[in-house]
Amino acid sequence: MSGLYARESRSVSTMAHLRFFPLAVTGGSGAYLTGDDGRRLLDFAASWGAASLGHAHPAVRAAVDRALSDQAGASYLSMANDICVLLAERLLALVPGRARGRVWFGHSGSDANETVARMVVAATGRPRILAFRGAYHGGTVGSMAVSGHPAQQGLRAAGLTLVPYPDSFAAGSPEAAMQQALAELERLFATEVPPHEVAAFFVEPIQSDGGMLVPPSGYFAAVEALCRKNGILIISDEVKVGLGRTGRFNAFGQAGFEPDIVVFGKGLGGGLPISAVVGPEALMNHSSAFSLQTVHGNPVCAAAALAVLDTIERENLVENADRTGQVLHEALTGLASKYAIIGDVRGRGLALGVELVNDRSTRKPARREAALAVFRAFELGLVLYYVGVESNVLELTPPLTLTEEEARQGVAILDRALGEVTQGLV
Ligand code: PLP
Repeated sequence: MSGLYARESRSVSTMAHLRFFPLAVTGGSGAYLTGDDGRRLLDFAASWGAASLGHAHPAVRAAVDRALSDQAGASYLSMANDICVLLAERLLALVPGRARGRVWFGHSGSDANETVARMVVAATGRPRILAFRGAYHGGTVGSMAVSGHPAQQGLRAAGLTLVPYPDSFAAGSPEAAMQQALAELERLFATEVPPHEVAAFFVEPIQSDGGMLVPPSGYFAAVEALCRKNGILIISDEVKVGLGRTGRFNAFGQAGFEPDIVVFGKGLGGGLPISAVVGPEALMNHSSAFSLQTVHGNPVCAAAALAVLDTIERENLVENADRTGQVLHEALTGLASKYAIIGDVRGRGLALGVELVNDRSTRKPARREAALAVFRAFELGLVLYYVGVESNVLELTPPLTLTEEEARQGVAILDRALGEVTQGLV
C-alpha cells in the first residue's frame, strides 16, 4: 500500500462486516481489483452488481469531482438540488407510463424497498403484501420484513405472504415450474389470502439472491393479469438486475410485465450509495412516502448515477451485457459438459448463475463445493460469490463493461477451481 492509506500491517479483522475473503482492497480499475497483497483479481461480482461500470470509471470520477467542487455534497434540507432533478427526469423517461410519476431517492436497495413497503400499505389501506420465497429485498428491518430469504426469518411483517418463485431446474421444466407456481398463487388467493386485502406484490424479474432463477416465459404476464384483476400493485425490484445487466435496459420488460413501482439501486451509483423509487404521483405524493434521511438525494451520488446512465448509453453497455453475457453463458455451459457437479447454468446477460449439485438426478445441493470453488477461485485470481436458498449457486454479476477476453479468462480460472474442488485437492 502507498500514499495516504499506507500502514505497516493489514488487519482486516478490525472490520465488523462479513469478510468473505482475507483481503483489503487497495484499488481497482475496470474489471480488476487490487488487493493489499499486491495481487490483481478479476472481479465477476462487481460488488454484488454495484460496480456496474467496473472500478474507478473515469466518467464517474469526473462527475463526482465536479459535483464535489460545485456543491457541498449534502442534501439541502427540504430543497432539491439541480443534479437530483436531472436524475429524476432521466429515470422517469426510462420507466413505462404506469410508474412514471415521481422519484424518491435513498442510499440503498434496502431503504428504498422499506420505503415502498410502508408506502403501499398506507396508501392503499390494504394490510397484506406478497413476496417470493427466497427473495432478498434488503437488510434493514422494514426491507427484511418483506423478504423471503431463509437468512431473514423472524423479522417478517405480519401481513406478508410468501409465494414460490418458479424454479425450472427444480421442477424439471419451465412449463412445470410455471404451472406449480401459478397454482400455488391461485390456491392462496382462493383460501388464505383474500386478494382485495393485498396492497402489492414485490417481484424480482430474475430472483438473484434466491439462486439466479429465470422465470419461464409467460409467467409474469399471468401474475400481472392476476394483480390487475385484483387491484394489486406490482413492485419491480430492479436493484440487482436492472439498468442493463440482463442485456435489456429494464429487466421487467424482458420478463414480460409492466410494474406500478420500480426500485433501482446498486449499479445506479456505479459504486456510490444511491437508490431510487419511481412510481405514480398518487402513491409517491402520499405522506407515507416521505421518508426523510439526512443526506438522501445527495448531489455527489446523483452525479455518479447520471454519469452511469450516460455511460451505459454512450458505450452501448446494454448491448455489451447481452453479447458478452452470451459468450460467458456459452463458456459456462461448456464447463457443465466437463463437470457433473454443474447441474444448471442460467441467467440473462451478465446476471448468471451456476447451480452446483452432488447428484444431477436428485439435484442435491453441493453447498460445501460451492464455498470451496468460490474460495479457490479467489486464490487463483477471480472474485465471485455464491447465492441461493441452499447457498449452492455461483453468482456472476461482472461489470457491464466486461470484455469477451475477460469473460474467457474468468471461466478459465473457474474451470481450474472446479477441477481442483471436484478432485478433492482443495
Ligand atoms: N434488492 C435486491 C434484489 C438485492 O439483491 C439487494 C441486495 O443484494 C437489495 C435489494 C438490497 O440492496 P442494498 O444491499 O443496497 O441495501
